[in-house]
Amino acid sequence: MKIGVLALQGAFIEHEHVLKRLGVEAVEVRLPKELEGLAGVIIPGGESTTIGKLAVQYHLIEPLREMARSGRALWGTCAGLIFMAKDVGRDQPLLGLMDVTVQRNAFGRQVDSFEADLEVKGISGTRPFHGVFIRAPLIESVGPGVEVLARFDSAIVAARQSNLLVTSFHPELSGDDRFHQYFLKMAAQ
Ligand code: GLN
Repeated sequence: MKIGVLALQGAFIEHEHVLKRLGVEAVEVRLPKELEGLAGVIIPGGESTTIGKLAVQYHLIEPLREMARSGRALWGTCAGLIFMAKDVGRDQPLLGLMDVTVQRNAFGRQVDSFEADLEVKGISGTRPFHGVFIRAPLIESVGPGVEVLARFDSAIVAARQSNLLVTSFHPELSGDDRFHQYFLKMAAQ
């Protein structure tokens, strides 16, 4: 199975390392033709405005939407979640696939980054998943087709909409591969 990692900006290398550790071929995606033959794509954390602008420049918006429409798996972490959302309360290039409203930088400037143990639906094992939040967004509301997978306090921080997955934290930085394993199962379906 081949999984693409959108490599325009941000923390894409870390996702590649996890995929390789799990025995999966990781393909860096910068051009539409590089999406061919992929079972799924990960959109990494970084700066969502930059990722969006570059995706427009590289003509990736429609091909990524088409991938999602054809049922292949997409996973956005942090800035990737913002880029996949329908509504982020401001004007910036978005894929607009995931029926969620998102608040960027929701945890305030003082507490830019923090870590928290999360109970995540669908993640194997009994121990919690350690979430690394870096200038993280939160999901304010979800549409009827969206399943909430995890919350931090009352904020939604992980969700799934059939073949689409979003997390406001960075599973590629926690040294715990269970989230990537969950995504690989989605991609294999
Ligand atoms: N704050 C960033 C944004 O709004 C996201 C941060 C991240 O991806 N770690 O795009």
